[in-house]
Amino acid sequence: VIAMSDVEKSFGELDVLKSVSLTVEEGEVVSIIGPSGSGKSTLLRCLNKLETVSSGTVMVNGQDLKDKHHNINKIRQEIGMVFQHFHLFPHLTVRNNITLAMEKVKDVNKKEANEKAMDLLKKVGLEDKVNAYPSELSGGQKQRIAIARALAMAPKILLFDEPTSALDPETIGEVLDVIKVLADEGMTMVVVTHEMGFAKEVSDRVVFMDEGSIVEVNNPTLLFKNPQNERTKQFLSKVL
Ligand code: ATP
Ligand code: MG
Repeated sequence: VIAMSDVEKSFGELDVLKSVSLTVEEGEVVSIIGPSGSGKSTLLRCLNKLETVSSGTVMVNGQDLKDKHHNINKIRQEIGMVFQHFHLFPHLTVRNNITLAMEKVKDVNKKEANEKAMDLLKKVGLEDKVNAYPSELSGGQKQRIAIARALAMAPKILLFDEPTSALDPETIGEVLDVIKVLADEGMTMVVVTHEMGFAKEVSDRVVFMDEGSIVEVNNPTLLFKNPQNERTKQFLSKVL
């Protein structure tokens, strides 16, 4: 579903991704961990063309993102993204945050979009907030709405960039629980996270990045228990 090969990304003189190769299969959950500035967000952003790569290939759902003929809007519909700071539209109700793109991008009619929004709100446990504005929600609730909004496009892949880093400790669990349900349902996901317990529990594979390179990839049990690389060991000794 995702295949990155030999991806390089520079901002001016700064090489942020160095020969990154990674595949993610359908239904797989891959977590990305690593120190600040190691290139985790940049890697995610290259997957939906929020950034273009300097060299190398990114294939998403069979499409080469370098190919001039692809339809970037279609690719973005198939690959949803959830950000650390939610990025909800503050002037829209919860319902309209979820229905906006369905109506504008997918041409779904209002009635159908509203029904879909209610289904998604049930899924994230927030039906009672349908008429609320984002400012009336807790951080965890905002993030669950952001997930519902991403799901409204019926994506094949979901990308999460530190979805719980901006949350109070007591609301982290409710967001992770929603992501776990999606994992159980077979959603293909790439999750940048500092939650090592979560990465251990839900990931099929964990990627450790440092200084723009993928240093180590393994299944979570082995990566956390028995890291092979010195840099992985050092990082884990600080965060575990
Ligand atoms: P964090 O854990 O702090 O979110 P990260 O692993 O997500 O870090 P990135 O945001 O991918 O790291 O950034 C990697 C490097 O690229 C950093 O040195 C950052 O300053 C640099 N960088 C990221 N975006 C840009 C940009 N648009 N222009 C210039 N430099 C950038
Ligand atoms: Mg980041």
